[in-house]
Amino acid sequence: MFAGHFAAALAAKSVAPRTSLGTLTFAAQWIDLLWPTLLLAGLERVRIEPGATATNPLVFEHYPWSHSLAAVFAWALVIGALHFTTRRNARAAVVIGALVVSHWLLDVVVHVPDLPVVPGGTPVGAGLWNHREAALLLELGLLAGGAALYVRSTSALDRIGRWGLAAFIAFLVVIQVANTFGDPPPSVTAIAWVGQLQWLLVAWALWLDRHRAPRMAARLSEATA
Ligand SMILES: [Zn+2]
Repeated sequence: MFAGHFAAALAAKSVAPRTSLGTLTFAAQWIDLLWPTLLLAGLERVRIEPGATATNPLVFEHYPWSHSLAAVFAWALVIGALHFTTRRNARAAVVIGALVVSHWLLDVVVHVPDLPVVPGGTPVGAGLWNHREAALLLELGLLAGGAALYVRSTSALDRIGRWGLAAFIAFLVVIQVANTFGDPPPSVTAIAWVGQLQWLLVAWALWLDRHRAPRMAARLSEATA
């Protein structure tokens, strides 16, 4: 899954309006931000096999540290706790932890059974990647829903707030469609380095969010929670 994770971050702004979309994106996408580094370090493994699924040519051979449910829970605790110690916002810390876990729950819908619950355990996955149009519709539907919630809970302060967001969403759609219909990547090293570029999406979200303000209703709901 790709766009769906960004959708989760966008949607979370309505329950954590004072938390930057950059932070929310980091949390929702953390295990995919970590994975390329673990690939480069040789700690996790993937294989390119065109046609492995109708949508995705990757066979995830070994990724217990980034993509087992047990590891994801541990990451959620660590990242939620780190956020709480710096910001003292319990609600935001819980939302951030939940976003870290949401990544695995969204992945399990599209992945074929390759996601371990515990490292070394039986892998699971509902395999929606074998239905290309349905998988794409799900990604784009989630993104539309997440974007709508984000727009409803924030308002643009200037042009960057308005067009920076529009460009961000459009870019995610383009990448999602390219991932769905494009050629397989040339090598695992290429996957890992292109994967590192996702940090730029975190920076982009951080930047555009500074040019938008939470709407009153969203602020009040957090204040009274
Ligand atoms: Zn993932």
